[in-house]
Amino acid sequence: MNQEQIRNFCITAHIDHGKSTLADRFLELTGAVSQREFRNQFLDQMELERERGITIKMQPVRMTYRPQILSSKHEILNKSKTQNSKGLEIRNSDLEIANSTQEFVLNLIDTPGHVDFTYEVSRSLAAVEGAILLVDITQGIQAQTLANLHLAQKQNLAIVGAVNKIDLNHSKADLEALKSKIAELINCSPEEILEVSGKTGQGAAELLRLVILKIPPPQGKPEALLRALVFDSFYDSFKGVVACIRLVDGEVKQGDRIKLFASGAETEILELGIFKPKLTPVGSLSAGEIGYIATGIKDPSLVRVGDTVVKIPNSQFSISNIIPLPGYQEPQSLVFVNFYPEDTNRFELLENALKKLKLNDAALFFAKEKQEVLGQGFRLGFLGSLHLEIVKERLRREYQLNPIITIPTVKHQVILKAGEEIEIFSPNDLPSADKISEIKEPWVKGEIIVANIYLSQVLSLVQLNRGWAGGLENMSNEIVLVNFHLPLAEIILDFYDKLKSASRGYASLSYEVSGWQAGDLVKLDILIANEKVDAFARIVPREKADSIGRQTIEKIKELLPREAFAVAIQAAIGSKIIARVTLSAMKKDVTGHLYGGDRTRKMKLWEKQQKGKKRLAKFGKVQVPNEVFFEVFKATK
Ligand code: GDP
Ligand code: MG
Repeated sequence: MNQEQIRNFCITAHIDHGKSTLADRFLELTGAVSQREFRNQFLDQMELERERGITIKMQPVRMTYRPQILSSKHEILNKSKTQNSKGLEIRNSDLEIANSTQEFVLNLIDTPGHVDFTYEVSRSLAAVEGAILLVDITQGIQAQTLANLHLAQKQNLAIVGAVNKIDLNHSKADLEALKSKIAELINCSPEEILEVSGKTGQGAAELLRLVILKIPPPQGKPEALLRALVFDSFYDSFKGVVACIRLVDGEVKQGDRIKLFASGAETEILELGIFKPKLTPVGSLSAGEIGYIATGIKDPSLVRVGDTVVKIPNSQFSISNIIPLPGYQEPQSLVFVNFYPEDTNRFELLENALKKLKLNDAALFFAKEKQEVLGQGFRLGFLGSLHLEIVKERLRREYQLNPIITIPTVKHQVILKAGEEIEIFSPNDLPSADKISEIKEPWVKGEIIVANIYLSQVLSLVQLNRGWAGGLENMSNEIVLVNFHLPLAEIILDFYDKLKSASRGYASLSYEVSGWQAGDLVKLDILIANEKVDAFARIVPREKADSIGRQTIEKIKELLPREAFAVAIQAAIGSKIIARVTLSAMKKDVTGHLYGGDRTRKMKLWEKQQKGKKRLAKFGKVQVPNEVFFEVFKATK
């Protein structure tokens, strides 16, 4: 295919500013999805995404579009081209192309907006030449708008700006101010910022035309040897690992033999295709195109996101002088959690599920981990607690696994009295207090953008979480930007939720790890019936140990099934018990309340109890159902 006819782009925005909804309008306009198949937020294909109303995975889709004669707005653009920023100048030849009602192939990649999924965004950006920057008129520019714009600019992408949700109530003055602000950010004139509504479709066709005009076509070498970037992947039980690829140079055909540059894996292509967004086989793909290859490879670790696909030529040509594509930076895990199979014989199932999940979630980190009481398991690294929750939920839905999950923690640096410095990922690896000289924890610096009226609540929230606010900057008469510093541990749990409630949903947050600082931290242990339950252990600031300890044991008491005997639940620092509650003994037989003849229900309950017995053995005398661990974390974070 002629690259001049291809445009590859994504939509970038803060969460909920309407990316997926706008993508719906594009799908309709281009007839990519039939009326019958259509449903709202079409590109959010995962059940979990639809339930939560958020995009978690990037989703590519190919559309074909024949733009109509240019509208007057674009003539304005043409006139103002001298004011255009570098690299975005609209060439006359472009205008001619767009005028000629020629057909274009548009590859759109829909991306998530939540900060925990930034890695999805950065990978999508590397596969395209341009991005639409979308800003909700009622919310204005927010933290993730800027963060994602920054990522796009680092990739040298052409940016098309648009104000979305124009159908909602707004003042003309606000609209003009916002357009000027966006124009300033992306270095163009305010007239080039389009007004659109993903809901009504207003402006959507204009926006597609502007995408064709302003975003350059791919610049690969069609005649060169194949080089394709793997930007995502997933597992299919028939096709093996399916790699989502962006062809940079060359072409590839059904049945070609290929090699993955970094892993060295070689295979024959089982199937080659494009995303419509359903996987749709095609005979060949060439430079500039986006598509997929079914590799038939069964070992997920052989296909890595960021790797370069090359063709194994039939002739004597050597592939040794092919330079691989730049690939991606490995993401840095911020939150660590141990997962243990609910049942020791499910260890391998869990391992396989994690491998397959990682194919589809390149930001997920995991390594084997053995622990005395809970046995063989995994240490997992996540980009945030939403990321953790999504992985846990996907394991349950897609793999029917429900592992025991320890309380999330950040990485700590521990300086021992002996002088040695160690890194720990789990509270249970912390040496005893008498050996420790200092514990350091990661800190973040970041920005909160919030309306003036909520500023004092936000500042006290920062302080309550052991942080401090630096400078304030006025973004407008009503909006202020707060620079802040906080321990990462405070951010990852539920800072975002608290911030949302302190600002009635209007604050936005972005942050990055800035360094290490020593903290007055202690290990908080939880004992049930006098046995330490390692999965509940956590490292907490000394000043909060009492309240977290009490909250935790109260929650456990509420969730734990009663036993035939009274059970003590205690919180301790070292050998000192700091709080204690007692779960009183069960009064009746477990099936007592099921009077009458419902034999099967009784049997089920007994079976549940029997299964529990495995765990019962592991926690001494007391049975702790799996769900308790995660529920306690959610209630006490
Ligand atoms: P994303 O997180 O950026 O993908 O945002 P979504 O497309 O999921 O939209 C977030 C919410 O805004 C949904 O409830 C949409 O129905 C709503 N929404 C999206 N675009 C518009 C629009 O143009 N007008 C109005 N009124 N609502 C919109
Ligand atoms: Mg979305």
